[in-house]
Amino acid sequence: KATIRLDKMLGNLGYGTRSVIKQLIKQGAVTVNGKPVKDHGLQINPNQDEVVLDGETIQYRDTVYVLLHKPAGVVSATEDSRDRTVIDLLDLDLAVLSPFPVGRLDKDTEGLLLITNDGKLSHELLSPRKHVPKTYRALVAGAVNDEDVAAFRQGVTLDDGYVTMPAQLEILAKSSVGSAATGDEEQSAEELTAAIKLVPNQADLVSGESLSWIELTIHEGKFHQVKRMFEAVGKKVLYLRRVSMGPLRLDPSLAPGEWRELTDVELDSLR
Ligand code: URA
Repeated sequence: KATIRLDKMLGNLGYGTRSVIKQLIKQGAVTVNGKPVKDHGLQINPNQDEVVLDGETIQYRDTVYVLLHKPAGVVSATEDSRDRTVIDLLDLDLAVLSPFPVGRLDKDTEGLLLITNDGKLSHELLSPRKHVPKTYRALVAGAVNDEDVAAFRQGVTLDDGYVTMPAQLEILAKSSVGSAATGDEEQSAEELTAAIKLVPNQADLVSGESLSWIELTIHEGKFHQVKRMFEAVGKKVLYLRRVSMGPLRLDPSLAPGEWRELTDVELDSLR
């Protein structure tokens, strides 16, 4: 829709409640294309009309697309009575546009989370018919082996009897608790070593036990899927991070808890 009510536009941008905005307009604080307006219901075309509030030109937008590096300890919800949510991490001027997380990461999972108010895009990314790939890196207790790779390629049976779709598992590095990590690439060994420190329950790290740093790509999104897939082969995920979803990659310059809006290139890649 090309036009929006003036009061709704200012409300969406976080300039106050409907009545506060109505009052502001009545007081003559707002001009549209240089003329003072008193009609708070005036239809505005945000792409053409210049709206000025108290001398400040208002840049309108009604959509928001945020790439968040979700930290552990916050929940993937818009509201929660006990825990901080991923929306609480955003600035208020974006939060006022009612964004929501596209899918869910567990409270203890870190990594890429898209937050938007674009319901159509969210639906497309989450639709079970679209099989949008999601890639995770995980620290797993136990020696992940080629049999696990083959099993994940075939599909494994979860605790509720569901058989997973073919998934791509790659073993990036290995270690055991208390020994140095080794991997085909130095960076993978470093990631494994760093992940050990991120295990929430350090008591899960049993001295001498094998550890594996893996990458897993799945094309569906069952509840706790990655953790349950490893449980199906008798292993435990100790730390989990999502590194990509569809065409989006976790931005290495974002520390856990940091976010930025999508670039135009990223937005185009989603459309
Ligand atoms: N799989 C899980 O087990 N947890 C997540 O947070 C995401 C995928």
